[in-house]
Amino acid sequence: MKMVETVLCCVCWLILGLWSSIFVSPAPLDNRDHLHTAEESIGKFWHVSDLHLDPTYHLTDDHTKVCFSSKGFPAKSPGFFGDFMCDSPYQLIQSAFQHMKDVDQQPTFMIWTGDSPPHVPAKELSTEIVIDIISNMTHTIQEFFPNLQVFPALGNHDYWPQDQLPVSTNTIYQAVAELWKPWLTTEALSTLSTGGFYSQIVKPNLRLISLNTILYYSPNHATENMTDPAGQFEWLEGTLDTSQQANEKVYIIAHVPVGYLPFARDITAVREHFNERLVRIFRKYSNVIAGHFYGHTHRDSIMVLLDEQGNAVNSLFVAPAVTPIMGALESQSNNPGFRLYQYDSSDYNLLDIWQYYLNLTEANEEKKPDWKLEYIMTKYFNIKDIQPKSLYELAQRFEKPQSKEFQQYFNNFIVSYDNSIVCEGFCKANQVCSIQFLDHDSYSACIKRADTQLVWLLQTTYQREQKQTHGVIY
Ligand SMILES: [Zn+2]
Ligand SMILES: [Zn+2]
Repeated sequence: MKMVETVLCCVCWLILGLWSSIFVSPAPLDNRDHLHTAEESIGKFWHVSDLHLDPTYHLTDDHTKVCFSSKGFPAKSPGFFGDFMCDSPYQLIQSAFQHMKDVDQQPTFMIWTGDSPPHVPAKELSTEIVIDIISNMTHTIQEFFPNLQVFPALGNHDYWPQDQLPVSTNTIYQAVAELWKPWLTTEALSTLSTGGFYSQIVKPNLRLISLNTILYYSPNHATENMTDPAGQFEWLEGTLDTSQQANEKVYIIAHVPVGYLPFARDITAVREHFNERLVRIFRKYSNVIAGHFYGHTHRDSIMVLLDEQGNAVNSLFVAPAVTPIMGALESQSNNPGFRLYQYDSSDYNLLDIWQYYLNLTEANEEKKPDWKLEYIMTKYFNIKDIQPKSLYELAQRFEKPQSKEFQQYFNNFIVSYDNSIVCEGFCKANQVCSIQFLDHDSYSACIKRADTQLVWLLQTTYQREQKQTHGVIY
């Protein structure tokens, strides 16, 4: 019977094949034009973050002396392209930009979300050194991409002493405004040199807002007890309001992200009251904002902003770092990464992410920086696009027990550093809650729900084990 079906099917395909070869004419020209336009209507831009150049990186037999950024701890397995205990050697940064150039994606622009200097004690740096390093990184990008427009955001390390970004003009804001003149308008340079933030039209009806979220960062003592440091909230609301009236779409870029840290419990990246205010503003203008792009955590993560009714209204992305350095109390790190976003040129809605990475261990062993595509987000997770609804559906799939997709997401989170690391229990609860809930009340409710489930699960497992040891098996 099976055999007959197969034969019949082959006959059908043969007839259909003949039929189509006889009657189907080549696609009409206008159709092909349409396909061509569809391809052309996809815009692209690069996102690079947390370069953290360590100019002291060098290979030596004494592993405690490879880099100042290891703070006296021995480097793990130092090689030409870096070490997981150290910030980036210049060769690593060059190899990243070289690969961006080689893959020739023809992007419209690049966003660069800060943190150029290394993680070293304050006494090792100075205002001059910090400016020198930002200048070095700026010129490096310009050498690789002389014709590409770049939109930078300041990081907490782009100041001396680190984190203390002030609310008024200073040597560093002025220096970066001078360095970034080739990329930014006079108006943008003016707010950049006074408050470290700016906005600029990127393409017709697309505005980019570069926020200085270090003004809201907890370790920044300069802004303690302030309600609106540098008047940035008022400026942000005014800018979004103007954009709304002008029917513009907005991309928000900043270094420190809004929301809760995915690897911690109940800790916002910026001060909690500033986080609440940012969430309120982003909800109010969610129809204007087409995407958020951050850095700082050095890990690859997503967030979905929900409105008060629980509808997904904004997609937020945190790009992983180029530096592979491991945090002081961490047992894992990230491979170096950078990414490409695709958007629909007609409405600037986001379509996809192409995440690239370097397997640092392999690169050092082979003495060759073999940057690869780590994943294409829509294909990897089988989602339509990366707009709020799709991301929210994905986040809900992550919530399911033993979700394979969540494990895949976690592998990406650490940029394929070690795919055998499993994130379950409290680790997963923290991640899943931080993806979907950005304000205090909804995040706390999520954590409470997750903890109740986990406790129930632990109790059930314990009781089952108890019964098993007493000979009752079910
Ligand atoms: Zn950083
Ligand atoms: Zn940072």
